[in-house]
Amino acid sequence: MSSLVNLIRTGGLIKRGDPDGADVLALQVALNAAGYRVATDSVFGPRTDMVVRQFQRQHGLKADGIVGEKTAALLDRPHPDLVKGAKPLQTAGWPHDDTASLLAFYGAPWADDGLLTRVDVPFSMTYEGNVVRKVRIHRRCADALTTAFDLIAKAARGKPSVLRHVSIFSGTYNNRPIRGSSRKSTHAFGAAIDFDAPNLPLGIRGVTSADMPQEVVNAFRVTGAVWGGDFVGRKDPMHFQYANP
Ligand SMILES: [Zn+2]
Repeated sequence: MSSLVNLIRTGGLIKRGDPDGADVLALQVALNAAGYRVATDSVFGPRTDMVVRQFQRQHGLKADGIVGEKTAALLDRPHPDLVKGAKPLQTAGWPHDDTASLLAFYGAPWADDGLLTRVDVPFSMTYEGNVVRKVRIHRRCADALTTAFDLIAKAARGKPSVLRHVSIFSGTYNNRPIRGSSRKSTHAFGAAIDFDAPNLPLGIRGVTSADMPQEVVNAFRVTGAVWGGDFVGRKDPMHFQYANP
C-alpha cells in the first residue's frame, strides 16, 4: 500500500516550490483527510504551505512547512489516532475545522445531547413537505444562527426570492462522517446547516448567487459562519458552518 512516508523515502521531502505532481497531490489528499481544506490541485502553493504548518503546530512538530518523514508518518495514521495526539488550534471566534479543535470547542453532542438546543425559524421552511418551525443546533452557535435567520427574514420581506433555497431544510445536527472520509463532519458537532440539498449538490464549480442568494451568504457571514460555496477545493453551496476552514 502506498503511504506518504513511502513517497518521501523514494521521492524526497515535499515542500513549497517543488514541481507540481503526484507527491504533492498525495499530501493534499492526506491533509484533507486530516481535516484541513486545501485544493487537490497538485500545486504546493501558499495555502498548502500554511496548512502544513498548522498541522505541524498542532502535532508538536517544527512548523517549517517541509513535509519529511515525521510529518508524513502522522498523516499516514488512522484519523482517530491522529486526533488523540492533536492540540486544538487556537483561533479567534469560531474553532478551526479539524476534529481536535472542534472537540475542544463543541464537546461531543453525539454523547451529550444537552449540548444541543432548538432555534426558531422566522420564515417559511419545509422538510420533505412538512413545515419546520425550529431547527436543532449546538448551544454555542444558537445565538449566531438566530441572528442569521432574522437577517434572512428581514431581507426576504422586500425580496421573497431570497428564500428560494433556505425555505428547503436539509439538516443541521447529524452524527455522520464527511462524505468520502472517516472524520466527523461539522454536522456531527451541531455546528452546520444545509439547505435545499436536492437542488444544490456538492461539488458544483464556480458557485454563484443563483446557487445561494448573496443576502443569505451575507446574513451568515455577519455571524462569522463560513459558506461552503467559499470552500477551497470541493464547493458545497448548500452548507454553512460555525468553524473556520
Ligand atoms: Zn452540510
